[in-house]
Amino acid sequence: NTSLKEDDPEIYELVQKEMYRQYSCLELIASENFTSRAVMEANGSALTNKYSEGLPGARYYGGNEFIDQVEEVCRARALQAFGLDSSKWGVNVQSYSGSTANFSAYTALIQPHDRLMGLDLSCGGHLTHGFYTPKKKVSSSAIYFESFPYKVDMKTGLLDYDKLEENARVFRPKLLICGASAYPRDWDYARLRKIADESGAYLLMDMAHISGLVAAQEQNNPFDYCDVVTTTTHKTLRGPRAGLIFFRRAPKGEKHSDLEDRINQAVFPGNQGGPHNNTIAAVAVSLRQVADPSWREYAKQVRANVRALAENLKKHGYKIVTDGSENHLILLDLRPLNLTGSKMEKICDFANITLNKNTVHGDQSALTPGGVRIGAPALTSRSFKEADFEQVGEFLHRAVQLALELQKNAKLIKDFVVACEKSQELAQLRKEVEA
Ligand code: PLP
Repeated sequence: NTSLKEDDPEIYELVQKEMYRQYSCLELIASENFTSRAVMEANGSALTNKYSEGLPGARYYGGNEFIDQVEEVCRARALQAFGLDSSKWGVNVQSYSGSTANFSAYTALIQPHDRLMGLDLSCGGHLTHGFYTPKKKVSSSAIYFESFPYKVDMKTGLLDYDKLEENARVFRPKLLICGASAYPRDWDYARLRKIADESGAYLLMDMAHISGLVAAQEQNNPFDYCDVVTTTTHKTLRGPRAGLIFFRRAPKGEKHSDLEDRINQAVFPGNQGGPHNNTIAAVAVSLRQVADPSWREYAKQVRANVRALAENLKKHGYKIVTDGSENHLILLDLRPLNLTGSKMEKICDFANITLNKNTVHGDQSALTPGGVRIGAPALTSRSFKEADFEQVGEFLHRAVQLALELQKNAKLIKDFVVACEKSQELAQLRKEVEA
């Protein structure tokens, strides 16, 4: 019964340091957030000790009386958070993360080597949406399925629905995936449904980034059109790290009526073992917070903060992808300044501002991305308002100036070193000639 501090001072100290880092930095990573104390308490509870393979009421281990109740509560709250009627939608809450939720959904919906289409990584899509490079099939979603990504319009940065429709008519996917990790605009689900239907494809929305906003009705509702909706629980939704898979129940006899069994079996035993019950309890706690009326205020504030930041940066002359944002993030295009996203990320790290480099559509290499992704969910959880985000914009502006200045000075030194080397080389040559 010793505390972490007494039992393992080395790890204790690292945890303390990380906590200090989180609270002493301006946290602008779009996929991160600060969970509540209650969520952390549930996540660090005795539920981590229990094995419970299977589903509530049908487990492979004894002693699951309370675990069953936790999972039932979590499922009910997940449906409630998104306003779903349990006769029309079901949910599996056991996925360990967003990636495994996606792979389980694909396992349930399509067969090996079937075709899928998702948004290209360089245009803001996620790895698990079929990412591959010319040299390598990187993601399992490209290894086990045939992937043909769709893109944004290279001029506007907006999703090119016409091109997607044209390509889908040729490629005829079995699964159309929407959702993204770095796309600042909302989704036209009616159009996507139409495109999916033309090929007889399932439509899956991975709303990982925006689920907290969807729950607050601050984004279009994917449940109106999609067959399956996946999400992580730790981004705008502000829970612990996990994944949820929502599936549409169709009236008996219709195409999707067996989705429930297929999804549940794809999660376990398909891709996972025993569920992480402590996490499921913590997801339940966070979903209860999402049901509170204050959640809508939070989601509205996230969007207002992003807008304030975008306006501030535009005032300083920066290029924002799609010229703004409708959700919780912006993509700052640094290419007009001849600055890479990696350099900007480094400079910001020095200044206790945490963000991440990100490819911008049209980038030639993912190794030297041309932009940075900036999100408002975490700082909004720490009560930041529009004026605070204007100040964040000022800090970012100064960071860019500093990066440019450093880059300029580094180039001057580099030119000088090259010139010195050249003159030494010349002197040596002259000596040799004279000798
Ligand atoms: N889907 C999207 C759209 C994401 O942005 C991410 C993570 O960034 C994931 C899935 C994967 O989530 P996880 O890291 O929990 O596996």
